[in-house]
Amino acid sequence: MENKKELRNWLDAMELAHPLVIAGPCSAETEAQVLKIAHELKNTDATVFRAGIWKPRTRPGNFEGVGALGLKWLQRAKEETGLLTTTEVANANHVELALEHDVDILWVGARSTVSPFIVQEIADALKGTDKIVLIKNPVNPDLSLWLGAVERFYSANVKNLGVIHRGFSTYEKTRYRNNPEWQIAIDLQNRFPDLPLILDPSHIAGRRDIIFDLCQTALDLNYDGLMVETHYDPDNAWSDATQQITPSTLDKMTVDLKIRKEEGDAIEFNNKLATLRTKIDVIDHQLIEMLGKRMKIADAIGELKRENNVAILQSKRWNEILGKMILEGEEHRLSEEFILRIYKAIHQESINHQNKIVSQQEKSLH
Ligand code: PEP
Ligand code: MN
Repeated sequence: MENKKELRNWLDAMELAHPLVIAGPCSAETEAQVLKIAHELKNTDATVFRAGIWKPRTRPGNFEGVGALGLKWLQRAKEETGLLTTTEVANANHVELALEHDVDILWVGARSTVSPFIVQEIADALKGTDKIVLIKNPVNPDLSLWLGAVERFYSANVKNLGVIHRGFSTYEKTRYRNNPEWQIAIDLQNRFPDLPLILDPSHIAGRRDIIFDLCQTALDLNYDGLMVETHYDPDNAWSDATQQITPSTLDKMTVDLKIRKEEGDAIEFNNKLATLRTKIDVIDHQLIEMLGKRMKIADAIGELKRENNVAILQSKRWNEILGKMILEGEEHRLSEEFILRIYKAIHQESINHQNKIVSQQEKSLH
């Protein structure tokens, strides 16, 4: 697959004056719940109504979706509100049922994208369809696996495609339910600038309070749309209660978000500058996070040296690190002088940390 303008035909055909908004509950729960939320979304920026019918749960015993019965509710929601509908399909049988019930857009979930067998089964079931298919990133941070899934659909002659960035699993608990790893989506966008890219802030955040900021970052990075989990009573949702927002919060949010429209020379310049600056911000954030992690390891080494009465400064090891980093720096067009300056500063900070650890022990001996 190569980048082609045609990749975004389906989105351009919608002629939206703003990024695409997909909204609706994590799960369809009852007919009344589906219809109430769809009606509340009707007069917002949302064009597409989402609801999970079959829910992939990491652990069994949680709500696993209402199943095919809910597809009739989606059909009714579409008839009554004019919103397009979308749901997750995870096998050929889901595809068949979703098509029978006129679902407009099908999405492939993160737990399916990890498996080329499942992706192939879904792609085969959809061969040649003109339905829109949106592919979520796999749970693990692997760009090729994500692109591989897109290519399987493309090769099955499914040409109305898009991707949804929903973040990546980590074992360590972070402020996110799924770490955004913006760099992966930015790399994908660089390779396929015309492939519609949609942010799912809900599954990245896992909580309501950072959804706005995630959406703003995505718009600053020129994403094409947002998929936001929305429920009239989020706290009592049957799944993903902590991350859902109400349709009216969504409505306010879309008004407050700054959307960059690309028109006119000056505006285009400002848009491009803002996008590049957001990319820098993403990397700066990663740099600080990595430096913090490095320092924690230096602390652990400090403890170990203290327990074993070993001197903090070990010039041989330090010279080895410097030599290696100067060579690696060259590969990335970074001058020796720059690497030396950075590494001297990092090394000094590590020594300060380790000195603190050793002096804490001395204090406790007095
Ligand atoms: C969902 O959208 O409700 C969902 C299950 O998403 P994901 O596949 O991203 O976990
Ligand atoms: Mn969900």
